[in-house]
Formats: sequence, C-alpha cells, structure tokens
Amino acid sequence: MRIATFLLNGKRQVGLVSADGKTVTPVALTEEQAGRGAQALIELSVDGKALPAPAGAAIPLSDVQLQAPLPLPRRNLWCVGRNYHAHAKELQASVFKDNDANPESWPIVFTKVPECVVGPHDDVSIPVGVSDQIDYEAELTVVIGKGGKNITKADALKHVFGYTIVNDVTARDVQIRHQQWDMGKSFDTFCPMGPWIVTADEFDGTKTRVRCWVNGELRQDGPTENMIFDIPTLIETISRGITLYPGDVIATGTPAGVGMGMKPPRYLSAGDVVLIEVDGLGSIENKFV
Ligand code: MG
Repeated sequence: MRIATFLLNGKRQVGLVSADGKTVTPVALTEEQAGRGAQALIELSVDGKALPAPAGAAIPLSDVQLQAPLPLPRRNLWCVGRNYHAHAKELQASVFKDNDANPESWPIVFTKVPECVVGPHDDVSIPVGVSDQIDYEAELTVVIGKGGKNITKADALKHVFGYTIVNDVTARDVQIRHQQWDMGKSFDTFCPMGPWIVTADEFDGTKTRVRCWVNGELRQDGPTENMIFDIPTLIETISRGITLYPGDVIATGTPAGVGMGMKPPRYLSAGDVVLIEVDGLGSIENKFV
C-alpha cells in the first residue's frame, strides 16, 4: 500500500495511492483520525483492525495537494548522522566525529522537532539572518508500526510499518555552533516529507537507492547497502531502554554529496529547488525561499 495524506477542498484526508501513482482513493476516517494523517492507519494496523472502507471514488493526484504522510509526527523525529561511508569521509575534516573510523562505534543519533515537517512539494523557508549555510540531506526514512523496547536486530524489521522520504534540511553554521544538532536541524519547514508511505510488504529499504538533485544537478546517489549502521541496527540501538511507538520516524542518514562536503562548500539559496528520489518510493521536490 501507498498511504498518502492530502488536502482536497481545504479538508485533510488520507487515501491509498494507485499502483500507477496517478490517483488516490480516500478512506473513511473520522475528522480527528484524518487530522493525524497516516498515523490513524498505522494505529489501526498495529491493533489488527481492518483497513477503513473507501470513502468515494479515486481522485487524480493532480487534483489534490499532497501533505506529509505524517503531517505532525507524534514526537520528535529520530535521525541518524554520518551513516554512509562516503558521507562520513566527506565530512571527516569538519568538527564532527567520524563514526566510520571505528567499527566498534555507535551511531550518531539526534532529533528534529515534529513541527518542522512540511509536505513533499511545500516551500522551505531559509531563516534569513540566522543562517547562511543551508544544506540538503536526502534520506530514506523508516516509519515504525508495532512499538517496543529493546528490540533486537533479528526482530527489527517486524516493527517497520513502512518507508518514506525526508529531506533533513540543515543549517550547518547553527549545527556546529551549538554542538548538539537539534537546533540547526529544526528550523520551521526544515523537514519536507513524502510523497507517501509505502508499506514494508511492498518495499525493501535495505536494498534501494537514494538520489538528490539541486536545480537539476545530481548531487547525491547512494545505495542503502552502503549504510554504516543498517536499519535493523538503528532500530535496535534507538530502542535500547527507550520505547518506540507506532508512527515514530527514523531518518536513516544521507549519502555523500551534501553541499558542506564540496570544495568550496555549495550551500542553498533562495530559488534553489531540491529533488529527492528513492527507488520504489517516489520523489519529493521543494523550493527554498
Ligand atoms: Mg541527516
């Protein structure tokens, strides 16, 4: 299934996207459920309840405004830093620690606030006067289904409801200045997400490809097999002593090719358009303003 959250005539609805990606069929949810986007379907699924019935005919996707599948995740988004070998290498000269240098090391984990999530085609606002080092990070993102604590690697993929795409937009100067990363990662609109959630039965996040273009120029291209810490390891690590809940989000890190890693760095400015595609998931495209 591909689960989309969308606006039609100003009303938020949740629906299933057709196999050809051309239409979406809304499902019958209460207004409160629809207000939480795909979260409602994740919870029904975890509770073993049937999918709600269709609530009308298929609608052309061109007639709706896609929103983030989880427009306001239930809590901070878990994010992983430096999780592709080539990306860890391109930033090894920065102030951040290199977690590729030591195979015994642990993943870098930080969070983004839920309020910075925007839709797959929404504008991203550059915080003028606060940062002039705005960067993109294309990321495959896990959506947790069944929750749990101390989940083992062997069981981890059973806790994955599905996958989506996130642009982990980052203000590098702010990220460095405060040492902890949350501020530089959490400016309003700094988390485009979408275009929908593809459920885990239809998509293998461990074997796909993440690409990112800036104004049509390919900047990032990484197979997820090149992650330093694979998805089961990330779930095992984050759930150590911390309960994961249905609808929790884990952005799994970005491949090489971010603006900061270029010589000289190439940061984003107003008018730039960032397109991210993950094979099997679709794409998101956001203008920076
Ligand atoms: Mg990131």
